Amino acid sequence: LTSRLPNVGTTIFTVMSALAAEHKAVNLGQGFPDFACDSKLVDAVTSAMQAGHNQYPPMTGVPALRQAVSAKIAGLHTKTYQPDSEITITAGATQAIITAILAIVHPGDEVIVLEPCYDSYVPNIELAGGVVVRVPLTPGTFRPDFVKISAAITSKTRAILINTPHNPSATVWSRSEMLALQDLLAPTNILLISDEVYEHMVFDGQPHESASRFSGLAARAFVVSSFGKTFHVTGWKVGTVAAPAALTAEFRKVHQFNVFTVNTPVQHALAAYLGDPAPYVNLPAFYSAKRDLFRAGLASTRFKLLPSQGSYFQCVDISEVSDLNEADFCQWLTREVGVAAIPLSAFYGNGFDQRVVRFCFAKKDETLELALERLKKL
Ligand code: PMP
Ligand code: GLN
Repeated sequence: LTSRLPNVGTTIFTVMSALAAEHKAVNLGQGFPDFACDSKLVDAVTSAMQAGHNQYPPMTGVPALRQAVSAKIAGLHTKTYQPDSEITITAGATQAIITAILAIVHPGDEVIVLEPCYDSYVPNIELAGGVVVRVPLTPGTFRPDFVKISAAITSKTRAILINTPHNPSATVWSRSEMLALQDLLAPTNILLISDEVYEHMVFDGQPHESASRFSGLAARAFVVSSFGKTFHVTGWKVGTVAAPAALTAEFRKVHQFNVFTVNTPVQHALAAYLGDPAPYVNLPAFYSAKRDLFRAGLASTRFKLLPSQGSYFQCVDISEVSDLNEADFCQWLTREVGVAAIPLSAFYGNGFDQRVVRFCFAKKDETLELALERLKKL
């Protein structure tokens, strides 16, 4: 069998979680919370099931949920997406992103990704027959370099993927960076896939600069989010795509044949739960407290802390702690120290090693404290 993805193995998140389980390590690798979601949300799913919402929903998503998502975006970003023609409910952001790519990328089209990037983007583009064009984020700071992005644009560039807040670096794009992207794309027909799954985890009073806030970006963008991140339910796999009607129509042509619909009771529950903004409005305070606890614990170690402006990740430079490369260090840390982390090299096509690893702090305080106790021995 000739592989469609000859360079792809099992994702690093699956590999590291399995290793963490095998060695009973504290799993700060794969990004997911180890605490319960709001019991009201669980009750809402039960109620939806008891109310008989157990058959296929509309292909595009339960209307009440599309309306609630539209209202939420309008409230936050003053951009109104039509629930019927511009919002689609997906099986998490993962399915949203691959569906958008399959919908717009023709064989031979170039798609720009900014490295390091989430590990599904490149295989998604390859499956669509697209040509991956990798542009590095600025080494050290992970900020977008518009000179390099501009230089990567050709007549074949079909789309660019961005991600803010950023996994793995925890940087958050500023307004001026979004404006620079808008200016760069203005004279082109390049489409934008804006992965905003960590939209509600932005710290220190900074806003989340969604692509939907910028008319020149919104007009060409698939804006992707995930309830898994926002409501601490990564296993529910429900996300959203907001895009102009013409793009949404193409998106839905693929969506109807790669997933068709997303589970019904959870959509009803999310629609009801979105009525109260407090759970997502409170997320920056909730997660920045965890970030601060984790950073304070690491301050006395030889790990060098990188900034964490958003997301639920904290990157650290390991060069004072170990001579191992990132991947070997993460293996060693999991097996010998009992804490799992993710090497940043997993987010680069060429395995670039800069001696930086990523910890996830979406954990109970006691979990973070146990991990810190172990890390402080290094
Ligand atoms: N994009 C990024 C940047 C992510 O970190 C994740 C979650 N790991 C996803 C997409 C996928 O989200 P979901 O779990 O909703 O499919
Ligand atoms: N997005 C999560 C992370 O970056 C993991 C999701 C996955 O396991 N695919 O850790």
